[in-house]
Amino acid sequence: MGRRTLIVGNWKMNGLIETAQEFADAILTGLSARAGRFVQCEVVICPPATALYVLNQRLGGSSVKLGGQNISEHESGPHTGEICGIMLRNVGCRFVILGHSERRATCGEDNETVGRKMAAAFRDGLQPIVCVGESLEERDLGRTLEVVEGQIEALIPYLPVHAAKRPLLVLAYEPVWAIGTGRNATPEQIQEVHGFIRQRLEGELGADAQKIRILYGGSVKGTNARSILALKDVDGGLIGGASLKAADFLAIIDAVPEKF
Ligand code: PEP
Repeated sequence: MGRRTLIVGNWKMNGLIETAQEFADAILTGLSARAGRFVQCEVVICPPATALYVLNQRLGGSSVKLGGQNISEHESGPHTGEICGIMLRNVGCRFVILGHSERRATCGEDNETVGRKMAAAFRDGLQPIVCVGESLEERDLGRTLEVVEGQIEALIPYLPVHAAKRPLLVLAYEPVWAIGTGRNATPEQIQEVHGFIRQRLEGELGADAQKIRILYGGSVKGTNARSILALKDVDGGLIGGASLKAADFLAIIDAVPEKF
């Protein structure tokens, strides 16, 4: 059995209660009209934390799953402004995005922090979607694989002891220079990094590496999704801008190829 394609919408700091409700209604209508295609892929929406409750009311019980955009590494306690994994679970989340480049750049999240947060996600029963990727400067210096390797290696000590849980990890390769810029990595550039990640995972985890989904993120839209999602080691997409409107997001779901 192949890896089931995963399409994740990252709304970042966009979306109020009303727009979230409208989105939920539109996505449910759109997906029910595409029942066959939807079976082929898993769909997750990661709105701001303030919209999770209402989205859970609308989407709970449907096949559309919810995720958060970050968690604290702590379980509870005096961490003003933070949200822990149990709280995300409490509002229906199954997934959480971790180590997004915007957080690495502006919130001081380094590889170790991201590793600890990944461990917290597993501890709290969430599937972590861990973002990795190089800056434009690092790519231009020919350091892409080295940077990504460092980001992946830092996660290894934080993986669950129970080997059966490890395939629940999701990785997202997001070249920083392609996020929100309209600039696309070429299919060759994407497959090169995804293939490399799979190989590194194999070195560490053996056969389980074949079960871990590796998403691509960076200006994915309905118009370029088909060629990206068809790549051998691309198991789905992490979608920013094009996840804000249901029609744009559905266009990406329509581009999911039949891989198995
Ligand atoms: C993202 O934020 O993870 C992302 C990939 O954004 P965009 O699709 O807008 O480039």
